[in-house]
Amino acid sequence: MSTFPVTRLRRLRRTAPLRDLVREARLDLDQFVMPVFVAPESSRNDELPPFSRFTVDDLLREVEDLVRLGVKSVILFGLPEEKDEEGSGAWIEDGIVQRALRALRPRFPELVLMTDVCLCEYTSTGHCGVIHDGEVDNDASVELIARTAVSHVEAGADIVAPSDMMDGRVAAIRELLPETPIVSYAAKYASAFYGPFREAVDSTPAFGDRRGYQMDPGNVREALRECELDLAEGADVLMIKPALPYLDVIRAVRDRFDAPLAAYNVSGEYALVKDAARAGHIDERAAALESLTAIKRAGADIVVSYWTKELAGWL
Ligand SMILES: [Zn+2]
Repeated sequence: MSTFPVTRLRRLRRTAPLRDLVREARLDLDQFVMPVFVAPESSRNDELPPFSRFTVDDLLREVEDLVRLGVKSVILFGLPEEKDEEGSGAWIEDGIVQRALRALRPRFPELVLMTDVCLCEYTSTGHCGVIHDGEVDNDASVELIARTAVSHVEAGADIVAPSDMMDGRVAAIRELLPETPIVSYAAKYASAFYGPFREAVDSTPAFGDRRGYQMDPGNVREALRECELDLAEGADVLMIKPALPYLDVIRAVRDRFDAPLAAYNVSGEYALVKDAARAGHIDERAAALESLTAIKRAGADIVVSYWTKELAGWL
């Protein structure tokens, strides 16, 4: 290998077009997914975007905006009229997400409609499953989660994304939905970075926390086991959540598996940059582009990000 002075790596950094020519990780709006929150009129809020809760009518307008900007995929989260112990609002035929899908599907035939499949926005306990004897009952929850996925597909979803971290939920959904792509939140960590999201969907657990089912932040080999199991159960895409504090996990999964890989750039990651920019410490656009590029460089194909709409304007 030749060294200096024959090799000079600065040669390709001299101008912007030269740098563009050799850039390894790129941001392409085609692979970004915008999260949106839909709620009945009674729990609509005036939280600033991207954490606003839209009514179905507001959502149609918002999505029209997104599509006009070039966004091709959204992931829907819902807030029910009422919560109960089983989270029945998640799977009922006229649930909030189901109503939103029926309104969106005919209006935006080309848009990829992905739904988050979980119970925590719908249970009175705020947990991702049903509670029996003070604990989240894995197998009973899996049945309800699969039922939720089916109801989303019947209402028009293209892709279902189970985020509950129960064991066996991908297999249960796959059995009922042989043709539907599943984006599995394969390695979802019990993270402190979900704050603004939990407020948006009002899903802070009423007791305890989610460490009994979400992953421990110290583990990466376990993430590989989760991914292996989800692929074996029939997942089409693996997802890692959060993204920025877990770039090493994204890289490890990328190196081990050939399936498409998604990363969820969560609300806390977004808020950190947003608030630091508001305080005048950093430039939001530059910091956001750098963060998203880092997620791509780590190996993610698909990025779910609250910056998707703004990114559409930047690119
Ligand atoms: Zn959940």
